[in-house]
Amino acid sequence: MEDFPIDLADFRNRFSTEEACIDYLISLRWPDGIVCPMCGSSQIRRTTRGLFECKDCLRQTSVTAGTLFHNTRKPLRLWFEAMWHITNQKYGANALGLQRALGLGSYHTAWKWLHKFRRAMVRPGRDNLSGVVEIEETYIGGKSSGKRGRGAENKCLVAVAVEDKSQISPTGKGIGRIRLKLIPDASADSLNVFVQEHIEQGSNIRTDGWTGYQTIPTLGYKHTVVGSKELNIAHLTISLLKRWLLGTYQGAVSSVHLAYYLDEFTFRFNRRTSQSRGKLFYRLVQQSLLSDPVPGRKITGANADIQAATGNAWELHDIPF
Ligand SMILES: [Zn+2]
Repeated sequence: MEDFPIDLADFRNRFSTEEACIDYLISLRWPDGIVCPMCGSSQIRRTTRGLFECKDCLRQTSVTAGTLFHNTRKPLRLWFEAMWHITNQKYGANALGLQRALGLGSYHTAWKWLHKFRRAMVRPGRDNLSGVVEIEETYIGGKSSGKRGRGAENKCLVAVAVEDKSQISPTGKGIGRIRLKLIPDASADSLNVFVQEHIEQGSNIRTDGWTGYQTIPTLGYKHTVVGSKELNIAHLTISLLKRWLLGTYQGAVSSVHLAYYLDEFTFRFNRRTSQSRGKLFYRLVQQSLLSDPVPGRKITGANADIQAATGNAWELHDIPF
């Protein structure tokens, strides 16, 4: 059962102590009870601050060990507040906003935390897209326009896959889930890898006539070729992505980090119709527990993103989904 706070008052009420945060993490990480990671015993004794000791092999473990919260010296309450803040910003949280919301002394801490959470936003082993799926590529960044298939200086090429639900849903909500990925070039090799990693075999893939897509039918997919102007939902998704990067981060996203921003956009986009922000919070906690530790030293390049400190978060409800 998915158990999450319904609003801010509920959130504050539920997670006012470290103990409450630890209990919540325990219920999400070990829904069937705690098992010793060393010997598999379920004879576990709880000590302090989320620590557990196996009665059989005496190994100690904690609910945060091996997760995104691994070895943190900050209170879990603060981490929870960060996750609540992040999931309640409809269009994305930037580091300065997070720093202010949490009263953190350091901008850099807020920036690092956001990057850690971005790494948890794509669920390992998630389902592939299926049905009718539109694919297109787009360049992000740089000033001049890139030439297709060749790559362009200072630009990143992003492959975009979007489920077309217009046949299923007559209410006009034609866009299903999306997947975004940085790809090295628009060759058939690169595009085929993207297709196979993200789309269920047997799906009907709609693209334009670019040569890089011509071998799709050999991979076990149906392939429909349309004119480039007919890729409506892919182009809408791309323009939303670009506006989001511009609005939330004022375009100041370095290429080093773009992959993680793509993950954040995907996380938010695929849950855009969710009625409850609490459910997004729940997902982020859950996926943070599944995420490997991200040592702070591995997240570098803050200066490239530092101008993205402020931004006018742009509102998705302007967009006719
Ligand atoms: Zn044990």
